[in-house]
Amino acid sequence: MNFKDTFNVNERGARYSMQSCKNPACMSSRAKAGGKLFKCSGCKVFTYCCKDCQHAHWKEHKPQCLEIRKENDIVADYDQKYVQNGSLGLSPKQAMDEFRAFVDHFNPQIFFAAVNAFREGTNLQPTGWEEDFFLIKVERRPNPSPLSPRWARFMISHAKRYSIEDFEAVWGAEYEKPGNARAADVKKAKSRGAGHGVITVWLTCLSSAATVQAPFPNFFSPQRAQAIGRMNTDPFVFLRDAVEKVSSGSSSNSSKPV
Ligand SMILES: [Zn+2]
Ligand SMILES: [Zn+2]
Repeated sequence: MNFKDTFNVNERGARYSMQSCKNPACMSSRAKAGGKLFKCSGCKVFTYCCKDCQHAHWKEHKPQCLEIRKENDIVADYDQKYVQNGSLGLSPKQAMDEFRAFVDHFNPQIFFAAVNAFREGTNLQPTGWEEDFFLIKVERRPNPSPLSPRWARFMISHAKRYSIEDFEAVWGAEYEKPGNARAADVKKAKSRGAGHGVITVWLTCLSSAATVQAPFPNFFSPQRAQAIGRMNTDPFVFLRDAVEKVSSGSSSNSSKPV
């Protein structure tokens, strides 16, 4: 895995090494777990390497799980309305499924860009992660081929590090405040002791069907952060280009990005 170049996310190894068991005491990568992680059947978002890890994390995960389920229910309600209205095109459920596939697939690039967005000067450690977060706006491509992989149907339109105050000033009217999620992440990181942090990436997609948001908390440790190469480009430019490169190279997505 080479983080210094635009690395090839189609190498399973890159993704598998970034996806991890969400039990903080374990955090085994998917690679370490022999390629196998299963999703919590309640929220279908959090992943674990084994039943023991899921059980150990349940007390902490329960409120998160209920939050995500609520969100899933809202989307299901939207779907019902769409079906009743007989509108064609993408349902919110489809939009969310596609978006999650995108987030999973580009996990290594998102992490790489986020870590670099939080680096300042010659510091190899992410800085400012307690106050700031990284906002990534994603747009669905117009009329993607139905044969294209679900994860290849989006492009990056914006990626920038924000303080909570700036975010509210710039985007306040458009989005729900991510402050609570971030505060919870910071608290979790602190309870785990010094030397580890959580970079909050706020991924959002405005599609014609729904606004889909995916908070993407990313744990870093000094070793993990330093293994992530320093990028010479702006994190937005890196992310946009990496997604274009991989998506346009995917086997059944021949249409050129607009
Ligand atoms: Zn585990
Ligand atoms: Zn869950």
